[in-house]
Amino acid sequence: MTTRRLESVRDEIGKCVRCAACQAGCPTYESAFSETMSARGRLRLAQAVLDGRIGLTKRVSGDFFECLACMSCSSSCPSNVDIMKIVMVTRAEAVASGADGRLLRFINRHLLPYHARLNILAKLVGVAALFYKLAPGFLTRHLPYTQGIAKRATPDFLGRSLRSRLYGAVNPDHAPPSTGRTKRVAYFSGCMTDLAFPGTGTSVVDTLNRAGAEVVFPNEQVCCGAPAWFGGDMETARELAESNVKTFDALDVDSIVISCATCGSVLSGVYPELLDNSAEAKRVADKIVDFQWLVVKLGVEKIYETIKNPGRKIRVTYHDPCHLKRGMGVYREPREILRNTPGVEFVEMENADRCCGGPGAFSLTHYDAAMEYGRLKAEAIVDSGAETVVTSCPSCQLQLDDALRKFGSDIPVAHIADMIAAAGERQTGSGGQIAVSEKE
Ligand code: SF4
Ligand code: SF4
Repeated sequence: MTTRRLESVRDEIGKCVRCAACQAGCPTYESAFSETMSARGRLRLAQAVLDGRIGLTKRVSGDFFECLACMSCSSSCPSNVDIMKIVMVTRAEAVASGADGRLLRFINRHLLPYHARLNILAKLVGVAALFYKLAPGFLTRHLPYTQGIAKRATPDFLGRSLRSRLYGAVNPDHAPPSTGRTKRVAYFSGCMTDLAFPGTGTSVVDTLNRAGAEVVFPNEQVCCGAPAWFGGDMETARELAESNVKTFDALDVDSIVISCATCGSVLSGVYPELLDNSAEAKRVADKIVDFQWLVVKLGVEKIYETIKNPGRKIRVTYHDPCHLKRGMGVYREPREILRNTPGVEFVEMENADRCCGGPGAFSLTHYDAAMEYGRLKAEAIVDSGAETVVTSCPSCQLQLDDALRKFGSDIPVAHIADMIAAAGERQTGSGGQIAVSEKE
C-alpha cells in the first residue's frame, strides 16, 4: 500500500514529544479512555502506518474518522504539532486506498460543487423529515440506512434559500444594493445558512447594514469544501477552494464576512495550504473575518442605538464553536456583543468552549457518540440558568437544539445574528423574541 500522502507529514509527526498534554480536554479520549482516541495515540498510529508496522485498515482509519476536529489538542500542544493536518492527511490516505470514506467521497464529489443539486437534496431531506414525522416507522423500515439520520433533529429545509432571497429580481449582481455606506464587505454564507437557516443570513446582512457596512453577496460562491476536507477528499476540497478564491478575489471589498465558524476556519486556515500558498488564496484568506468580530469593530452601539426600552432582561449564555475560538481566535467578541445587548443578561456556562459533538458529518455517521458529547453540553447549558443559548455556527446550533430536546430541556437555541435582530425588533414593537431558535 502506498503512503505517499502520509510521507508529506512524516516530519510533522516527528515533532511530537509524547508528553500527553493533548489528552486533557480531548472529548474522544475522555469518552473512550483509549490511547488511540487521543491525538498522541493517533499520531503514533500514523507513524506505525508510515513505518509499515501496521496497515491503514478500516479499523485503524476509524480512529481518525472519530476525531471531532475540535482542535482542543492543537491549542494545548507545547510542540505546536499540526495535529489537524496529520489527521486529515491520514483520512485522505484511507479514502484514496479505499479503506474508508468512499461513500462520503462520492457524495462530496457529486453534490458539493453544484448548488442546484444541494438545493434539491435539501428539499428532499425536508420532505423526508416531514414524512418521517407523519409515519416514523416507514422510512427506517424500508431504507435502513436512514436510521441514524432519522433520529436526528432536522432544520426546515423547505423554505426559500438565502441566495434566492438576497439575489434576484432587485439586483441581479449583488444584494442588497449600495446605499453609500462606508465599508464594503462580501458575505460568504456557507451551505447550512443558505439552505437551512436563511433567516440567519438576512439577520447578518441587516445587522451589518445597520452597523454601516454595504454587503455584497456573490451568487457564484460554492460550498467552502469543509465536508470534503474533513472527509479526506482533498481533490474536491481543492476544486471548491479554487472556485471560491476566483470569485472572492475578483471583488472590490475590504473584508469577506462569515457567520459559520467552520467555513471561516477552512477559508482562512486551509485554503492557502490547499492551493500551494498562491497569492490569490492568501489574499482571500487574509480578508476573512467573523461576523461578530466585524460588528464589534464597527461599533456594537450603532446597531442598538435606537433601543431605549428593551423590557425584561433575558438570561443568555454562549457556546463557543471550536473552529471559531481555536480556529479563528474569536471568543471575546460574542461576549462583548451579549454584554452590550439591551434586554440581555449574559451568563457564562461551564466549559463553554468544549466541543458540542456536532461537527459536520460526524453527527450523522456517529450519532450516538455525538449525542453523548451533546448531553454534557446540554447539562452545562441547563446548569448555567440561561433562558436562551446562542452560538455562531449552524452545525453547533443544530446539535445544541437536538441535544437539549433529547435530554428534556426546552431552552431555545439561536444564532447570535438572530438574537441581535430580535433585540432590534422588540424595540420596534414587531414582536421579535430573543428566545427563538430561528427568526423567520
Ligand atoms: S501535546 Fe503535542 S507533543 Fe504532546 S503528545 Fe500531544 S501531540 Fe505530542
Ligand atoms: S481534535 Fe479534538 S477529538 Fe480530535 S484528537 Fe484533538 S482534542 Fe481529540
